[in-house]
Amino acid sequence: MADCSSIRKFTTAEDYRKNFIIQSEIDKYLPNGKHFIDEDEIVRLIAVMDSRKEPDAARVREIIAKSESSCETLLPSETAELMLVDPKKNPELFEEMRAAADRIKHKVYDNRIVVFAPLYMSNLCVNGCKYCGFREANSLQKRRVLTMDELKEELDVLAGRIGHKRLIAVYGEHQTTSTEYIAETIETCYNRQVPSVKSGRKNAIRRVNVNAAPLPVADLKVLRSVGIGTFQVFQETYNRKLYEQMHPAWSVKGNYDWRTTCFHRCMEAGVDDVGLGVLYGLCDWRYELLATVMHARDLERWFNIGPHTLSFPRLEPASGTKVPEESPWLIDDDTFARILVLARLSVPYTGMIVTARESPASRNRVLDHGMTQLDCSSNIAIKGYSDFENEAHQEKERQQFMLGDNRSIDEMVRYLASRGTITSFCTAGYRCGRTGGCIMDALKTGREGKFCKINAVLTFREWLDDFASDETRKIGDKLIEKELAGIKEWLPKFYPTVMKQYEATCRGERDLFF
Ligand code: SAM
Ligand code: SF4
Repeated sequence: MADCSSIRKFTTAEDYRKNFIIQSEIDKYLPNGKHFIDEDEIVRLIAVMDSRKEPDAARVREIIAKSESSCETLLPSETAELMLVDPKKNPELFEEMRAAADRIKHKVYDNRIVVFAPLYMSNLCVNGCKYCGFREANSLQKRRVLTMDELKEELDVLAGRIGHKRLIAVYGEHQTTSTEYIAETIETCYNRQVPSVKSGRKNAIRRVNVNAAPLPVADLKVLRSVGIGTFQVFQETYNRKLYEQMHPAWSVKGNYDWRTTCFHRCMEAGVDDVGLGVLYGLCDWRYELLATVMHARDLERWFNIGPHTLSFPRLEPASGTKVPEESPWLIDDDTFARILVLARLSVPYTGMIVTARESPASRNRVLDHGMTQLDCSSNIAIKGYSDFENEAHQEKERQQFMLGDNRSIDEMVRYLASRGTITSFCTAGYRCGRTGGCIMDALKTGREGKFCKINAVLTFREWLDDFASDETRKIGDKLIEKELAGIKEWLPKFYPTVMKQYEATCRGERDLFF
């Protein structure tokens, strides 16, 4: 059990709303009251873009080359230059950018896509975000907090039937489901061993990432002590004025500075894999992307560690709100694809997550736009995995928003394999201490990508043997043959060691990694 003696407890929503935020933990990271999201500079860059209209092709090519060779985060002004390339008006130049984004993705992450599942633990919330089905005032939402026994039932489906090994655990913000509850749910996930319904071999969740509200340093240290993976907090919008319109001042989430400084506190607490994100559709997407670059650069400046991942959630329909349909800033699929290319070039080393909010067509399309992670067989209703036999079943009043891509993991793995992409279930990184700054350097040089390739092959073998349909297994076997041949060519001396682990995995040993 996690030691929670160092953290504060709150018994009422009122007390929580009034006292949860620690002002000194904000001020520390905004020296002289100056915010690292320089909104004046963003407005200036957008005005320049609006007046210029046409990109400077030579400058664009220079920036692409810089991103590709250095793998360092671009300057906001460089991202702004790339933003001038409109795929409709400059299709050839945009295609050069897309191809470079794909090459960078391959250099850093090879031909792998990492898969995971969202697991919603609770939809109690003390906030009032206007786009979200969980907001406190939404009486249509059916409220529920998973007990540890119910969580075990969810894990039995996720690990025993679907074969997931990596989760993003998601929580509303509420005094009863804050740090102590989050820590207990993480521990429950790690402790559950579940036999595969197909092979009978034990499977387990090996990495639990968390998407929750910003926390103080002491609370983050508790999550670190139970082995949290990445801590994700989406900024929703970096535009302070629009942020204030969407998040009422009476709510905890209404504090823009508490949210924007959250990752600085994470780093201070030793939680050095952090996941940034913007809820696209709340503001001009150019504003959001420029601010994301500023956020990444400030983390690098303070800690020499940038975001482990960027996520690209888009507004989806949700219970009791019209914002997702009526926001003036909604983006289409073409813009979504453009954002991904710009993000890959702007923060070249980062993981990029595209969730099942997207339609299948939109997700298929951006696979070669720099993305590295996706979820599948997802069910985001609270207790949805164990209650619904059919994974595609959705209930608006039991979930935060509606999903666009209900494909099963078997279908997704088969689709990825058919285009030569290996599905990775690897979770070795944080268990070998490859997190934060340590993994940043390896990613920038492309070393991590090669390491992970071997672990991807081993975990893919596990999943094919324990969970795949015959059809998917056949396609997967062919891909593995090709990957092993590639490893033999690339690492002839190390190859016999790799094969030893591979053959042990084929015999049924599990969780072998480098
Ligand atoms: N409640 C915590 C918070 O807001 O900080 C944890 C995150 S919340 C459960 C998960 C994320 O879902 C939010 O940060 C937001 O970006 C996203 N979200 C909320 N409403 C959405 C909607 N209608 N469509 C798509 N994503 C939405
Ligand atoms: Fe609560 Fe998060 Fe939804 Fe806001 S986005 S209402 S904080 S669950």
